[in-house]
Amino acid sequence: MTTQPASATPGLRLEPADFGASEADWNDWEWQVAHRLRRPEDLDAIPWLGREEIDDMRRVARRYPFSVTPYFLSLVRWADRKDPLRAQVLPSPAETLAPEGGSLDPLAEAEHTRAPGLIHRFTDRVVVLATHRCAVHCRHCFRKRLWKEPHARNDGLRWDQVIAYLEDRTEVRDVLLSGGDPLTLPDGGLDEILGRIRRIRHVEIIRIGTRIPVVLPQRITPGLCRTLERHGPLWLVTQFNHPREITPEAAQACERLLRSGIPVNNQSVLLRGVNDRAETIKSLCQGLLRIRVRPYYLHQCDPVAGAAHFRTSLCEGIEIISQLQGTTSGLAVPRFVVDLPGRGGKVSLQPDPILSREKGRTTLRDHAGALYAYEDPAPAGFDPGAETIQKIA
Ligand SMILES: *Cc1c(COP(=O)(O)O)cnc(C)c1O
Repeated sequence: MTTQPASATPGLRLEPADFGASEADWNDWEWQVAHRLRRPEDLDAIPWLGREEIDDMRRVARRYPFSVTPYFLSLVRWADRKDPLRAQVLPSPAETLAPEGGSLDPLAEAEHTRAPGLIHRFTDRVVVLATHRCAVHCRHCFRKRLWKEPHARNDGLRWDQVIAYLEDRTEVRDVLLSGGDPLTLPDGGLDEILGRIRRIRHVEIIRIGTRIPVVLPQRITPGLCRTLERHGPLWLVTQFNHPREITPEAAQACERLLRSGIPVNNQSVLLRGVNDRAETIKSLCQGLLRIRVRPYYLHQCDPVAGAAHFRTSLCEGIEIISQLQGTTSGLAVPRFVVDLPGRGGKVSLQPDPILSREKGRTTLRDHAGALYAYEDPAPAGFDPGAETIQKIA
C-alpha cells in the first residue's frame, strides 16, 4: 500500500476505498497481491494503531516478517485490540516475549525430506512444498523457516527430482501439495505440476493445502477452477479458523471449487484468543457446513517459535470436542489432532466415553455425563475364562 487511506471508515474497519481500490481492483487477485501490507511503513496506513504499537510491530517483524492482503485486513475490527483476525496476521510483542523452546521446524520435516521440498513421513502419502510463497504470513505458521529461505534458482530441476522420487515410490497414492501456498502459483505453472504428478500411474489422489479461499478468495477464478478440474480426483484442504472468515467472497470461492468437482475440507488450528471457546468452534463448523465445507481436523498448535502465546492445553481441545459432540451435527465435529514431536505422526484425541470394560458389559458415558451399561459381545479370540477384558489395543 503506497497511499494513506483517505478517510477512516466508521465502524473501525478498512474498506476498499481506504486502499484507493476500485471495485474491479478489489476483486482482482493480482491487485490484492501487489497491494499486500508487508513493509514497516505500510502499518502507518492503519489509522487506529498507536505509535507505540506500530514500533512494537516493526521490531517483531524484523524477526518474523508480516504480509497481509487488503481483503483480509478489511475483515479486522480495529475497535478490539484482541480481534481474532488481527491476531492471526499482525505481529504481536508476545511473539518475541514468549519463552524460548519453540522450534522453527516442530515436525522435524527436514529429517523426513527425501527430495528437495518433498516430505515423506507416512507410507502412502507425501507432502510436496510447491512454493515458499504465501499470500499472508499467518503468525502461527509452523513453516516460518521458509519465509526467509531464498527461492529455488532452478525450480525445473527441483521438480525433476520430486517427480523422479514419486515415480520410484509405488506405495505413494496420495500427494499433498503444500507450501507456502500452492495457489499463489500462476495457473500455467500449476497446470504443469499437476499434469506431471497426474501422469504417475500409482498416484490416486492429489490434495492441495491452501489458505487462499480464506485470505485471498479472489484468486479462485473460473479459470483456476478449470485448470484444477482437469487434474482430478483432486481434494482441497483449507484453513478457516474463525466464523468471521466465512464471508460472501470466501463462500463464493468454495462454491466455485465445489462446482468444479473439488471437495473442500477444513483444517483449523486451535489458537488461544482466536477460537479457543467451544461456541466459536461450533459456530465456525456450522458455518462451514452451510457452505458445504467439511470440518476435517482441529489441530493442536505446534510448539512453533514465536507462537507460544497461541498454544492451548491438550485438555482444552478435548473439552471443545466433547462440547460439540451430541450438541450439533456429527458432520460439524472435526477430529482434534496433535502432531507428535520429532519422528511421530498425527494422533487424534477424543473424549473417552468408555468408563469400564467387563466380561459381556462395557460401561459408557454419554455427552451429558449419564452412564450406560452396554451389553457387549466378547471380542474375537477372547479367552472365555477371563473375567476382565484388557484394553483392546
Ligand atoms: C499431516 C501430514 C500428512 C497428511 O495426513 P492425513 O492425516 O492423511 O491428512 C501427510 N504427510 C505429512 C508429513 C503430514 O504432516
